[in-house]
Amino acid sequence: MADNCLFCKIAAGEIGELVYENDHVVAFRDINPVAPTHVLVIPRKHISTINDLDPVDAEIVGNLYLAAKEIAAAEGLAERGYRATMNCNADAGQSVFHIHLHLTGGHAMGWPPWPEKG
Ligand code: AMP
Ligand code: ZN
Repeated sequence: MADNCLFCKIAAGEIGELVYENDHVVAFRDINPVAPTHVLVIPRKHISTINDLDPVDAEIVGNLYLAAKEIAAAEGLAERGYRATMNCNADAGQSVFHIHLHLTGGHAMGWPPWPEKG
C-alpha cells in the first residue's frame, strides 16, 4: 500500500463500499458520477499512472477489463454499451494517482471527445 493513497485505502477495505472484488481488483461507485452508472475499477496493487506500468503488470491491466466486463453485465450495460476509460496525467484530467478504469454508461455518449475541434 502506498502512503496516503486514497484508492489503496479503499482497496484495503478501510473506507467505502465495494461493488465488486476479486484477488486482483476492486470496484466502487464514483463519488461524483458523470454518467447514470459510473464505477471505478482499480488494481489492488498501487500503480500511479499508465506511464508507470511495467510488463509484469500486463495481467493486472487485463484483469481490470475482465472485471469491467462483469460489472457492465451486472449493471445491465453489456448490450447497450459503455466506456471503460483510463485517464493519464494532466491533459486527461487524472486527479487520483492510483490507476483506475472509469466504467461509465446508462446513456448515449458522444464521440470524439475533442469539443474545441469544432
Ligand atoms: P481521475 O480524474 O481520472 O483521476 O478520476 C478520479 C475519480 O475518483 C473522480 O471521478 C472522482 O470523482 C473519484 N473519487 C475521488 N474520491 C473518491 C472517493 N472517495 N470515492 C469514490 N470516488 C472518488
Ligand atoms: Zn494506491
